[in-house]
Amino acid sequence: ATPTSIMVGTGRAADLGVLFRKGDALQSLAGIRTIALDKTGTLTEGRPTLTHLTETVPGALRLIAAAEAASEHPIARALVQAVQGDIPQAESFESLTGLGIRARVEGRDILVGAARLMAREGIDTAPLSDEAANLAARGQTPLYAAIDGNLAALISVSDPLKKTTAAAIRALHASSLRVAMITGDARATAEAIGAEIGIDEITAEVMPEGKTQALKALPGPTAFVGDGINDAPALAAADIGIAIGTGTDVAMEAADVVLMSGDLTGVATAIDLSRATLANIR
Ligand code: ADP
Ligand code: MG
Repeated sequence: ATPTSIMVGTGRAADLGVLFRKGDALQSLAGIRTIALDKTGTLTEGRPTLTHLTETVPGALRLIAAAEAASEHPIARALVQAVQGDIPQAESFESLTGLGIRARVEGRDILVGAARLMAREGIDTAPLSDEAANLAARGQTPLYAAIDGNLAALISVSDPLKKTTAAAIRALHASSLRVAMITGDARATAEAIGAEIGIDEITAEVMPEGKTQALKALPGPTAFVGDGINDAPALAAADIGIAIGTGTDVAMEAADVVLMSGDLTGVATAIDLSRATLANIR
């Protein structure tokens, strides 16, 4: 590629809100075979809200919100916002990354998180698991809560897809790319969302440190698109890392390309530009 054609290509991309941070990224992008996307904050808005609550212990939500108050996770924000009135102060808090949280509130042990966290802690979720499966099948994220070792609630949060996501996936398919999703969310939830937008391959229930491994298992060369701090290793490991401009600084610093607006249709645009630039020079 000549320096001039690359300058023209990166300039045109910038006009479209696609920022190339590294010079050779425009060329490498043309050769991508698989594009893997993070779900929360990348395919979805990243602003979940509470959509379902079953309390088997009355008043459980107030204790759950208190337990979540110190968490930075968007799920925690959804739960805290769902409670009106005073929320008690937690006496201790522990984040169980990729699984949920544990806290002490009013002298009680509060555990909130994914089904696999409850399994690990020996909490029997069977009484609420059919209800959880129904919620997950609708693309919601079911969460359980336990108080002092007993199942206390089933909660569900829903995080809407970005308006542009479905069109962006169609554009990637039209460019003959294989589209994958890599997420820490429950498998059934990820599959419901994946089916709605036509994702080819889904890796779910991955721990944050497992995203890179999941990416490397896909046929390359790969591009990875993500927004979070926990996406930084996968962004660096991908042949091309693409960060969402509305996401974290850590993700942007690890990426080769930044989508300024967070609109995923920019990915297909960037790939088409990259291919056109290479075609011009040949
Ligand atoms: P992702 O960003 O893909 O959702 P995370 O690793 O952040 O992945 O979270 C994975 C799962 O862990 C969530 O879907 C949820 O079930 C659980 N989880 C994480 N943080 C919390 C939290 N603060 N409260 C409840 N559950 C949580
Ligand atoms: Mg994310």
